[in-house]
Amino acid sequence: MGKGTDVKDYIVIGAGASGAMCAILLARNGKDVLVLEGGARACAKLAATGNGRCNASNVEISPSRYNVPEFVAPVLSRFTAESLRSCFADLLGVATREVDGRIYPYGNNSGCVVNALIARLSQCCELKVSVRAKRIVRAPFGYEVVASDADGGDVRFRCRKLVFACGSNATMGFDSLSLMSDLGYRVTERVPSIAPLPTRAFRGVSGVRAYARGTLFADGGEISTRYGEVLFRDDAVSGMLAMELSSAYARALRNGARAFSLVLDFVPDIPDDKIDGILCSSACDARGALIGFVPRALGEKLAAAAGIESGARAADRLDDLRRCLRPEITIEGLPSFKQAQVVCGGLDTSQFSPKTMMSLRDEGLFAIGEALDVDGDCGGFNLHWAWASAAVCASEEASC
Ligand SMILES: Cc1cc2nc3c(=O)[nH]c(=O)nc-3n(C[C@H](O)[C@H](O)[C@H](O)COP(=O)(O)OP(=O)(O)OC[C@H]3O[C@@H](n4cnc5c(N)ncnc54)[C@H](O)[C@@H]3O)c2cc1C
Repeated sequence: MGKGTDVKDYIVIGAGASGAMCAILLARNGKDVLVLEGGARACAKLAATGNGRCNASNVEISPSRYNVPEFVAPVLSRFTAESLRSCFADLLGVATREVDGRIYPYGNNSGCVVNALIARLSQCCELKVSVRAKRIVRAPFGYEVVASDADGGDVRFRCRKLVFACGSNATMGFDSLSLMSDLGYRVTERVPSIAPLPTRAFRGVSGVRAYARGTLFADGGEISTRYGEVLFRDDAVSGMLAMELSSAYARALRNGARAFSLVLDFVPDIPDDKIDGILCSSACDARGALIGFVPRALGEKLAAAAGIESGARAADRLDDLRRCLRPEITIEGLPSFKQAQVVCGGLDTSQFSPKTMMSLRDEGLFAIGEALDVDGDCGGFNLHWAWASAAVCASEEASC
């Protein structure tokens, strides 16, 4: 069937980070691209990333920061953090800067990336919003997509090649993987990731923040350690430290680990003998001495849990005080998908080629971004995967 009929060269389902980038790169090379977005606006999740700042990538991008290193390696070797920075500058007119290894738009707000993507998309592709794909049908010319429009009516679109870029059902996302499972594709077990770590250990100190080194253990073995800020909540530990540890939690849970604990070291840079000296020098009682190291509400909670009564002398309770400064707590349960930034799990990657992102069984059918069972650590690794898989998918026709 020739060009100029109602059969598009490409349909991209999903105008999030990966779909928008892929569509723009394909169109830049002269392809006729239709983008279907189920939400009322393209790139809605992208706008919320990085607390509104869009942590778009990281200077430490490497396969080891993902759950499936062998699969992502060929993609990441072709699209590095530098490729992303050039792509943003040359394709979108967005400058970037690095802060502690994380890459952000220079203007420090996600809006400039979202606006640039939407402006470029509208210029070079056909973008339909509030059109949600419901079914993909294999056809002699390629693929037909059955979708519902804003009024709930059925609409059909045809293309030679199809890119599935529907993301995940983490915060703000739709669950659209059934479109692919209906075609016979395997979907792995899905667990919320980059989310608070569930625990009841800090009930009563909700809203308190402290810095700590956190070491997470699964079935007795250490699986991850990080330093950063913890935000205590009645039902979880949150904050950057918990978010950074939670990828390891989600991956271990999915791999069958059952018993999890977290050691929070509030004094990782002070040796024990020095801590003892400082505690014993305090003019206050043991509880007062503890509050010299951690916020008051947290110190009171830890002291009460350790049975340190007010008036006790620090010198008499040194073992307990040291344990309070390095408590070990139990992590159990799952955060909801609505609390999670990403999902660990998705389309089984063994069904796709990491050289092209194309299906190994359906010519011209591609999957990119978080719809695949690829999850990265907190810190720009997930958006980097979205951009990189989009660029590799489009590289059949174009490159950054
Ligand atoms: C609050 C929050 C903060 C985050 N911060 C960061 C960060 O700073 N750095 C980082 O690296 N990662 C961050 N992430 C993760 C990152 O946003 C995602 O990994 C990334 O957006 C995935 O890109 P994607 O294109 O695969 O999916 P998405 O960006 O989710 O895009 C998928 C698109 O497909 C559309 N869609 C779904 N189903 C259909 C359908 N059936 N028909 C039509 N359209 C459909 C959706 O509406 C959506 O627009 C954050 C996530 C959240 C929720």
